Amino acid sequence: MPSSYLNFRFRYLDTQGKPNSFFYRQARIDEGIGIRLDTDTISIADIHEVSRYETHIALILRPYISLGKSIADNIIPNTSSLIIEVADDLAADAKSAIDQHRSTWEVYLKKDELIKQNKGYLFKAMQCPECEAWIDQTDIKETPYIYCKYCEILFDKHNEVMPKSENYKVCSECNYYNRVQSYPEFHFYALPSHTKAKYQKHYCCDTCAQRYHEQTAWRNGLYLVGIPFNIYLKNKMSKGTSQLYEGLTEANRLAQDGNLKEADVIYSALLMRNETHPGILYNLGLAHFKAAQDSDENRILHLEKSYRYFEKSLDMCSNYQPTLDFLKFYKGLVWKVRVN
Ligand SMILES: [Zn+2]
Ligand SMILES: [Zn+2]
Repeated sequence: MPSSYLNFRFRYLDTQGKPNSFFYRQARIDEGIGIRLDTDTISIADIHEVSRYETHIALILRPYISLGKSIADNIIPNTSSLIIEVADDLAADAKSAIDQHRSTWEVYLKKDELIKQNKGYLFKAMQCPECEAWIDQTDIKETPYIYCKYCEILFDKHNEVMPKSENYKVCSECNYYNRVQSYPEFHFYALPSHTKAKYQKHYCCDTCAQRYHEQTAWRNGLYLVGIPFNIYLKNKMSKGTSQLYEGLTEANRLAQDGNLKEADVIYSALLMRNETHPGILYNLGLAHFKAAQDSDENRILHLEKSYRYFEKSLDMCSNYQPTLDFLKFYKGLVWKVRVN
């Protein structure tokens, strides 16, 4: 069991993302108590999902559990979730500490269950080299890569993290695998008497950022103050990308816009450099699925190709969650077509 614990300060957030109080309260995560938020605690077993966006952490709790008053008062209405803001730059550490305890609890539960069935010898788990969460490997086909669903990296059986894997993941806006980072978006609006700026933040991939940039560039270009910002955005998109994944932003964009032929040329070059990459194979599966939706005559051909790429992605990493999730959706879809 991990012996790690973490003390931090937090504030509850409301549905608008605004803090519910001016002052921060004390919190602690450890193996014995789970998570203590001010005076109330949540047991690790009651946490269903954890996600983080910058300083904010969303905790999705299992439904129908009994909660202390201060936690219950701050549950987002009609959900079983809490959103907190973590102070002092400790949000990533807090999420990682919760994931470590949560994953340890899950694999111990699995081990216990197998021992009860006299199948303890089947139990297998690996620790993520990046976030140290435990990943259940029982009944999972051994493949070249392992996926950590907690920090979304890929690593091999020698615990080597795939190059740049910590920055490359599936974008929550377009669902394609690419580099994902935080991007600002700035709009300037001409009003009768003055110019007003509107600022938004996106946590998205380079392809999505490129779209935002194009949407805002011409408008911002009308105002001198917007020009340096557009240059900054363009620089951020091109800096720090890995040579291994050169062309990925462009290929995803072409595929999303329905230009599969051109996308395929770049994807093929990418596959020559990364022939076993579960994320790129997953993108090809998505690209052919989109082509199947768009084309009447070649629908079956694209669906077959799409399925084959998803299968290849799982041959490289049998627990690659984005592919598993898509296949679940995919099977539901085939069923729906048959019924109708
Ligand atoms: Zn991890
Ligand atoms: Zn995206």
